[in-house]
Amino acid sequence: MNSTIECRKCHSKNSINATLCYNCDESLQNYNYYKNDFKVYYKLFSKENMEILEKIPLTDTSYDTILNNIVNINPEITIPAYPTIPVLLKIIKPYVRVQYDSENKHPNFLSFYSFNKIFLNRTTPSNMIPSSIIHELAHHLFNEIIKQTIMHLLNTEKNLYIESFAWYLTLQNKYLEIANEYVSHKVQEYFIPEKFNGYTSLIKILMDNDDLDTKKIETALSFGSSISDDVIFILEHFIKQVNNNMPHISQDNTIGYPIYKFNTQQKIDALYTIIYKTFELFYKNKKDMLPLLDQFNQSYIYYNI
Ligand SMILES: [Zn+2]
Ligand SMILES: [Zn+2]
Repeated sequence: MNSTIECRKCHSKNSINATLCYNCDESLQNYNYYKNDFKVYYKLFSKENMEILEKIPLTDTSYDTILNNIVNINPEITIPAYPTIPVLLKIIKPYVRVQYDSENKHPNFLSFYSFNKIFLNRTTPSNMIPSSIIHELAHHLFNEIIKQTIMHLLNTEKNLYIESFAWYLTLQNKYLEIANEYVSHKVQEYFIPEKFNGYTSLIKILMDNDDLDTKKIETALSFGSSISDDVIFILEHFIKQVNNNMPHISQDNTIGYPIYKFNTQQKIDALYTIIYKTFELFYKNKKDMLPLLDQFNQSYIYYNI
């Protein structure tokens, strides 16, 4: 389910969590959505929902529906175009907003993604901006896949706790961070190979954590590789690959691990298992986990209102 809120000025239909109209930038005065309401939390992690998750597996047809629902978050029919800055800023508005990092929170990064916002460093050269936006947008879409899968399985609308749950899930351990970072680098490399400067943040995670389990790293990379195909599928509705007739060898061979792509069933099983296990963790530790999600809710409120 993806219900929408209508702009009073231009009548465009916006996502339920949007605060500004994607079409005319009018404020949607969507303050109701950005409220911390613990009743919503207890309803989400209820016994009924835990039982639904136990009983209803994720199927490949429902997963296809989920991906198409994400494409349809952008209600405009577009012809895929080359990913220039104006094209990107237009097509991603229904998903995320881009702004400069005026507080200079991460001076060493070209860009970063936080709670449905993409931040660009003021010193990022303009010719690096498109690929930076694509990298951060891929982080957002990986998050969106998690959110939409939970919404689909539990047949529920998006709410702040679902968003915060997805935020927690994608960063809950180093292996998911690795999968998450692989997805973003791979998608960035796919669309603009000539501006790609390597799997840098992924390699940094691997170097900073040399105690990680090799087999688990390989599984994380393989999972990330399968999800990157889905993010590319979503984005190809809007943007075209630059220089797609030039042969390109992926720099993912510099990561130093073999990457086996999962088949569809393995990917869906892995996604379902991660969601199920994480959900179960919250279900079994409801009281202890509430402050953590409340804190993420506060970040969503801070970044979006
Ligand atoms: Zn509007
Ligand atoms: Zn990243």
